[in-house]
Parts: sequence; C-alpha cells; structure tokens
Amino acid sequence: MAEPTIHAGLNFRQSVDHMVDRAIEVMDLDRDIAAAIKPCTSVLQVTFPVLIKGRVQVFTGWRAVHSIHRQPSKGGIRYALTVDQNEVEALAALMTYKCAIVDVPFGGSKGGLYIDPREYSRDDIQIITRRFARELANKGFLSPAENVPAPDVGTGQREMAWIADTYKHLYPEDINHIACVTGKPVEHGGIRGRTEATGRGVQYALQEFFRHPDEVKKTGMEGSLAGKKIVIQGLGNVGFYAAQFLSEEDDAKIIAVIERDGVVINQKGLDIQALSYYLCDNGGVKGFAGGEYSEDGAAALELECDILIPAALEGVIDASNANRIKAKLIAEAANGPVTFEADRILQKKGVSILPDAYVNAGGVIVSYFEWIRNLSHIRFGRMERRFDETRGRHIVQALESLGGKVPNYLRDELIRGADEFDLVRSGLDDSMRLALQDIITTKLTMEKVEDYRTAAYVISLSKLARSYQDLGVF
Ligand code: GLU
Repeated sequence: MAEPTIHAGLNFRQSVDHMVDRAIEVMDLDRDIAAAIKPCTSVLQVTFPVLIKGRVQVFTGWRAVHSIHRQPSKGGIRYALTVDQNEVEALAALMTYKCAIVDVPFGGSKGGLYIDPREYSRDDIQIITRRFARELANKGFLSPAENVPAPDVGTGQREMAWIADTYKHLYPEDINHIACVTGKPVEHGGIRGRTEATGRGVQYALQEFFRHPDEVKKTGMEGSLAGKKIVIQGLGNVGFYAAQFLSEEDDAKIIAVIERDGVVINQKGLDIQALSYYLCDNGGVKGFAGGEYSEDGAAALELECDILIPAALEGVIDASNANRIKAKLIAEAANGPVTFEADRILQKKGVSILPDAYVNAGGVIVSYFEWIRNLSHIRFGRMERRFDETRGRHIVQALESLGGKVPNYLRDELIRGADEFDLVRSGLDDSMRLALQDIITTKLTMEKVEDYRTAAYVISLSKLARSYQDLGVF
C-alpha cells in the first residue's frame, strides 16, 4: 500500500480525514461512498449578543452535523478558546465514526462556543447557555429526534440542565423534551453513571485490552493492569475518573498527572482523590505534597511509562514530540490527541495506540442509555429489581433446602437485583468489550491493517457504507 503523503501542519479536520483515508485505502471502499461519508452534512454558525453586567458581549458558536444516516445526531458541546468551525467539524466526524464502532445508533454532531468559561460567573454562563440553546433549537439543531448535545470540554451537567429547560419552555408540547440533551443531572432526567462514563469506558477499554495477552505482548508489556505505570494528561472529568478507577480498582500506578500549570510526578503512584481535591482548591497541581512538581508539563508526555493517557485536548502529540514518546501504549481518552503525522511516527516506532473513537466512546454509549431512559420515561431496573431479588432469595432457599449453606458473599450476590448503576455499567462494559474484540479481529485478519486505529475505522466505514447503501443513496 502506498503511504499517503505526510503534510506538515495538517489542521484537525484534515488530520481526521487522513486517518479515515488510510482505512478507505486498505478496505478498497468505493470512492463515491467514501466521498459521501466524509464531509459534514450541515454546519450552523451563530453569533448572538448577551447583556452581561450592563455591557453587551457578542459570542460565536457552532453546531456541525456530520451524519444523519441514524438520528438523532449526537455529540457534545464544548466551551473553549480552541473552538472554531474546523474543530467542531473534526469532532462531529469523530462522533459519527465513534458511534458506528460501538454500535450506538446515532449520527455524529458536535457543537462549541468560543468562550473561556472560567472568565464568567455561574449566572453569566447560564444566560449565555440558554441563549445558545435557543439559537440551536430555533435553527433545528436541538431536538430529541434530530440533534442531541451532551457535555464536552468546558461544559457539564448544569449546562445540560439549562439546555433541557430552555428547550422545554420552547416546546412544552413535546412529550420527549427531556431527551433533547444528555448528560443531565439525575434529578433532571439524567442517568446514573453518565458523569463517570467516559473515564469508566477508558478503564473498560484497557481491561479488555489486557484480556488479550498476545496483543499486550506486542506492546512490550505483559501480565495485567496491576502495577502498570500510567501517565495521564488532564485531570478533568475524563482523566479523573479514568485515573481513579485504574488506580483504585485495577491497582495501576498513576505516576504522573499533567495539568495546565505543569506536572506532578510520583513513581510510587499518586493519590488521585487527594490530587483532585487539591486541584479543585488551588486551580493547579503546583504545591501538591504527594508528588514532585515541574512546570514543564509537555516534557512529561515523554516520560518512561507503560501507558500514556492523553485526556485533555487535541493535537498534544504531533510531529514535534512523537519521536520522543516512550510509552508502550497510548490510550486516547481525549478526541484527537495524536495528529496524523504523529500517528505515523509512533507506528514506525512501534508504539501501539488505542484510538479516541473507541477509547472515549463510553460517554456517548451511556448518553444512548440516557436517551432511551428519557424516551421510555422510566428508570432502568424499576420494574424488575425487586422481582429479581425475590427470585434470587428463592434460589438461595432452594439450594439450602438440599442441605448445606450458601456462602454469605454468594447469597448477597444472588439476592441482589440490579439497579440503574449496575445496568449502565454492564451495558457500557459489554459495548467496550465487543468493540475492542472486533477491532482486534479486524487487525489480525485483514491484510494491510496494521494498527488499531485503521482497524476501528475499517469497521466503522463498513457499517456506514452499508447503511448508506441500504438507504438507497447508492
Ligand atoms: N462529548 C462526548 C464525546 O466526545 C460525549 C458525547 C455524547 O454523549 O453525545 O464523545
């Protein structure tokens, strides 16, 4: 296969497209279908004034819809100073591929507002968010049936609650109004487990990876996640939960956490909960007693470690530093942290990469569950939990009537009915496991597929192509 030309300085959108092109090439996908899949279907740009403390400020936001072969189109809304049309389009495209990889029946979309949310009070952000939501709804870019946002960098539950409430006031007759956005607080139609979902998904992805010893061996590692040295970039919602679960439940060692103001390192493993409290109180990691601080965060990406988890923004590993990365495996918890050029360099160096469109899919998987919960207007487990408990108790009684005693730990497990948390985690785990099994099989069986990213895109593109063909587009 001829290597696509590597251009220096590709923008985010081009970088994603080049990765997709590599898959299109190895799978010999019909060029017309590829040309129909790749571009965004529609992009909205809105500019609106908001009165803040007696002064008018003008904001610009975007919502890109990459695909509508399944609806609604799904994807987060980002508040950051990196936001522009190119970024939003790239992220919308990633959402399409992501949903297809993990079998979530949504199209891809993404939105963003050019704003530094830390510069504004809670009340300001509420006014801005409600106004942005009105713009999106009025222009057909927000609705339970067609376009459903979620949290992303710089947004969270509270913004989603404001968006849902704004939509409800605009369309009170829409019985499914609460499903117009996911990632809401549980008291406002959210689902248990959504906040932790992306980080939890990162953990499940790595757990599944370590169930494939042959693949683990190719990276130069062996054994389980226990004791593996991990560097995490970004202790936001995704990075925090990933770090917390991997260290507490899998006994991995988080040896470095990179944040805005630098890095804190401890080869024995950082106390993530304590670091997160410290970060909340102090706005940075400098001064944290549980590790050694350095202000050169970027250099810490190059630390000797087993697994590097970039969990912040795109483009942090590019042609300028890729050669110096020493991790054996990169798990892309952020969207687009490795550029196309860097991806090539890392592959040549023998560094394995579990791609973003798979690794961080936990968020949208649980968003899918939330959306279904909202449409069905009932919490998962509400109907069957007590029934299952009673049945479990009868099983224990039946077993004990045969003589002997069921050990306590088994008795507890048997008589416990699953609650919403259990069901969400089980559904998330299942989706993450199946998707990686698919990716590994594709990599092992398809000629010319040498890396997990290309394998993931091959799977995604085949599903998309089939869907486009079934719909009669070709
Ligand atoms: N913003 C998240 C992502 O990039 C979640 C999207 C969603 O739940 O719709 O995948």
